[in-house]
Amino acid sequence: MAYHIAIIGTGYIGLVAGVCLADSGNQVTCVDIDEAKITMLREGRSPIYDPGLTDLLVKNKRHLHFTTSYNEALKDADVVFIAVGTPLAKNGEADLQYVEAAAKSIGAHMLKDLVVVNRSTVPVGTGHKVEKMIQKVTSYKVSVISCPEFLREGCAINDFMHPDRVVIGADDGHEYAVSMLKDIYKGVSKNDAKFVVTDLRSAEMIKYASNSFLACQISYINDLVRLCEAVDVDVTEVARGMKLDKRIGEYAFLNAGLGYGGSCFPKDVQALTALGRNAGRPLPLLETVEKVNDEMVELAVAKVQKLLKITEIALSEARIAVLGLSFKPNTDDTRASQSVKLIEALIKEGCANLRVVDPIVHFSKEVERAHGKIKEINGGGDILDRILSAAKDADILILATEWNDFRNLDFEKLRDVMRHPCFLDTRNVYSKKEVEQLGFTVENMGRK
Ligand code: NAD
Repeated sequence: MAYHIAIIGTGYIGLVAGVCLADSGNQVTCVDIDEAKITMLREGRSPIYDPGLTDLLVKNKRHLHFTTSYNEALKDADVVFIAVGTPLAKNGEADLQYVEAAAKSIGAHMLKDLVVVNRSTVPVGTGHKVEKMIQKVTSYKVSVISCPEFLREGCAINDFMHPDRVVIGADDGHEYAVSMLKDIYKGVSKNDAKFVVTDLRSAEMIKYASNSFLACQISYINDLVRLCEAVDVDVTEVARGMKLDKRIGEYAFLNAGLGYGGSCFPKDVQALTALGRNAGRPLPLLETVEKVNDEMVELAVAKVQKLLKITEIALSEARIAVLGLSFKPNTDDTRASQSVKLIEALIKEGCANLRVVDPIVHFSKEVERAHGKIKEINGGGDILDRILSAAKDADILILATEWNDFRNLDFEKLRDVMRHPCFLDTRNVYSKKEVEQLGFTVENMGRK
């Protein structure tokens, strides 16, 4: 069955949900407070990049409406999805101001009984709070259930259409809302969705627990990097051997490197840590996970200094080329990007000559602060030319985000244009020995 669905927030989650739900025949209205985004979307242009997103946006324009008006969004809606941001507040907790504002607006504009599905990542208890907030300002009946989003930026469309599981959190009395949401998902995933139906609070916890566990895996393998280097072991071999254990699994997050970033893991680890503290049940393991992640940037800076020592050039005189700005490949999202943090750390240490190349990101708020010291953010044109031009006369080439465009670098050409052929592979994409054979001095994160 097709539904009228209103989606609140047209960011990475809301927009992907909107185009995918429209693609399965639903009538979708996306509402956002950001007028510039809505104007772009009405013109068929996506404000964000994820593979296939613009194509689906254009393809489904008959089923998709974009507005800044809650009145318009809610007038025919059977169900409302909340997909607004829950960034980190200064005290380390999740900042719920956008969720609360959305709740108030829903209450003020709903014109009939409504199912509200919260897809934003929120601390335990938020769903109940949202239901109370809405119910306070309306005489219609509202059913708030939780359906946390697990998609990954970079393959968001595929993840939305084919989720590993759909977690639905609902308390007794909300059976109608659950069956409606299941029906919507059956349409999206062609009857293939695996549902985990649980209570509202457990669903909220499953999301934080999952993201924090993935972050734990990354910090675990990263914590082994320095030890592996000290005892002459290749950390990528260790991960390969570990993943074949079924209890660990082939998809385990065990790629050692610069650490995790983005708009989810860093804030979700901190929000869960804060939840533990506030409940009188601190989570020391998670506090260490974050610390290890921060240390990976420090380790990368130390490796830059090590390479410069060999070339006998001070950081203030060095020319450094950085490949990748987004927090991971196939997205334009630079929120909490480890690449951006590395650039900022290098600038803080005195680096004054940086050139940066990213296949998609040309400029972002996150790098704006550091921009004075970045000579060039190399966007537009052929990517191979851009890599070579950033590397020209450079002393170190740093691979910071493992886009496919950086997986087959022409090291011979790079060696010939660089002032010093030094390479820091923070994502362990290349075999150290192979790149050394091409005349480079190489540092990486524990790979031989
Ligand atoms: P985002 O910042 O990209 O988008 C949020 C959007 O909500 C913005 O466009 C903003 O203008 C809009 N907004 C804010 N307040 C509003 C209001 N009152 N009414 C209407 N629109 C409003 O955020 P995102 O990355 O899409 O994340 C949304 C939620 O999904 C967060 O809780 C996040 O943790 C969670 N999540 C994100 C991802 C991801 O990969 N980005 C994955 C899973 C879960």
